[in-house]
Amino acid sequence: MTELLHMKDNYIKECDAEVLVSAENYIVLDRSCFYPEGGGQPSDKGFLIWEGRKIEVSRVAKEKGIVKHYVSEVIPVGSLVHCHLDWDRRYKHMRMHSAEHLLSAIVLDNYGAEVAGNQIGTERSRVDFKPFKPDRHMLEDIVNRFNRAVDEAREIRIEMTTREDMIRRVDERRRRMFERLPSFIKDVRLVVIDGYDIDPCAGTHVRNTKEIGHINIIKTENKGADTTRLIFTLE
Ligand SMILES: [Zn+2]
Repeated sequence: MTELLHMKDNYIKECDAEVLVSAENYIVLDRSCFYPEGGGQPSDKGFLIWEGRKIEVSRVAKEKGIVKHYVSEVIPVGSLVHCHLDWDRRYKHMRMHSAEHLLSAIVLDNYGAEVAGNQIGTERSRVDFKPFKPDRHMLEDIVNRFNRAVDEAREIRIEMTTREDMIRRVDERRRRMFERLPSFIKDVRLVVIDGYDIDPCAGTHVRNTKEIGHINIIKTENKGADTTRLIFTLE
């Protein structure tokens, strides 16, 4: 098992680790600051320092519960490495992921539409909402509400809690994704945007809405009779 440091602190950029498993093109570490792809958020990239040499980490993925760091050369079991994130890339994903939560909460609370899918990117991201057929006036309203929340500089925090507490606090429509996970998962990580949203999530987030920046909805796409995709960038 790899201890994923981002679960408690999203701002850890580097760490020491030991190689537990070594394969031809990947290694498993005892701890890691890298985010493995999942939940619509892409993998971190970066590099490791091993015996004074810099080795690229091209991708990190959780496969059957094992966090694999894909590297270009074999690093033996027991090696000590120092991990470095590509922080520019990760920080963009943090802003985008927090933006996705805020946008989803605003659309749900004001227009009753739920998230049907999402993909976070470094330069643009998208969320599919259902049932949702917005007109221009609605889109303007959503952008205004979003930007107001950014200007309010609301705290965003991570809370670890129980499944029972999560069910008490989180809107039924915001926990459907979580409820598809096996019931043996008892610990829940909540991402709380003060005054706006509580959502179970294992992704990486900024600490304050002011770090997100203002939103631009650059495009909408029809994704079926009752589903609309919003594509957005951040300023
Ligand atoms: Zn999330």
